[in-house]
Amino acid sequence: MNIILLGAPGAGKGTQASRISDGYGLPHISTGDIFRANIKNQTPIGLLAKSYIDKGQLVPDEVTCKIVENRLQEPDCKAGYMLDGFPRTIAQAEALDKITKIDLVINIEVDFALLMDRLCGRRVCKDCGESYHISRLNGETKCSRCGGELYQRKDDNPETVQSRLDVYNAQTAPLIEYYSKKGLLFNVVGNTTPEDVFAEVSKKLDALKQ
Ligand code: ADP
Ligand code: ZN
Repeated sequence: MNIILLGAPGAGKGTQASRISDGYGLPHISTGDIFRANIKNQTPIGLLAKSYIDKGQLVPDEVTCKIVENRLQEPDCKAGYMLDGFPRTIAQAEALDKITKIDLVINIEVDFALLMDRLCGRRVCKDCGESYHISRLNGETKCSRCGGELYQRKDDNPETVQSRLDVYNAQTAPLIEYYSKKGLLFNVVGNTTPEDVFAEVSKKLDALKQ
C-alpha cells in the first residue's frame, strides 16, 4: 500500500503517521523530518531548507522532489510506504505520479480556528517525533512513547504558523481536488481525538488490505 497523508499543518498528520506506521508496518516518510535531520547535521540541504522553514515557506520543489524520489528507491519502500507532508504542491504531485502509483490519500480535515493553538502549544519528541500538546502534558517533559526529551519546534510560533497556514491554503489545499478527481481521496474528520481519527483510518486501511 502506498499512502499519502494530507492535511493542514497541525491537522495531526504526524500523530496519525506514527500510529499507521506502527500498525501497518509502513515506513513513515516525512519530508519535514528529513529536512530537520539535515538541519541538525548541517548538511547543504539543511542549510538551504532552514532559510525557507524558518519563514514558514516551502522548500523549492526541485530539492524536495529529488529527496523523495531517492527515498522511495530504498528497499524498505518496496512493499509500500506512507508519505507525510509530501506532496504539498500540484507540481510535487505531478512529479510523484511519474515515479510511483498511489493507492490512497487520507485527508485529515480540521477547523482552521483550532490550528493556531494546536501548533503553538505543540511539543515534539527529539527522538521518535511523537507530538504532544501542552494542555495534555501536565508539565511532563519526556516522551511517554520512548522517554525522549520534548522540545518546541522553531517554526511553531504565531508568526511562522500564520504563514504556514497561508501557504497551505494557496498551494496545498488544491491537492484535495487533484486527488478527489483521481478517486483516491478519503476524508476523515480530525477535530476529534487522535484515537478516534486512527479508528476511522484503520477501518479504511483494513478494507483496502482485503
Ligand atoms: P507541518 O505539516 O506541521 O507544517 P512539516 O514537518 O511537515 O510540518 O514541515 C515543516 C516545514 O518543512 C514546512 O513548513 C516546509 O517549510 C518544509 N517542508 C516539508 N515538506 C515539504 C514539501 N513537501 N515541500 C516543500 N517544503 C516542505
Ligand atoms: Zn519519543
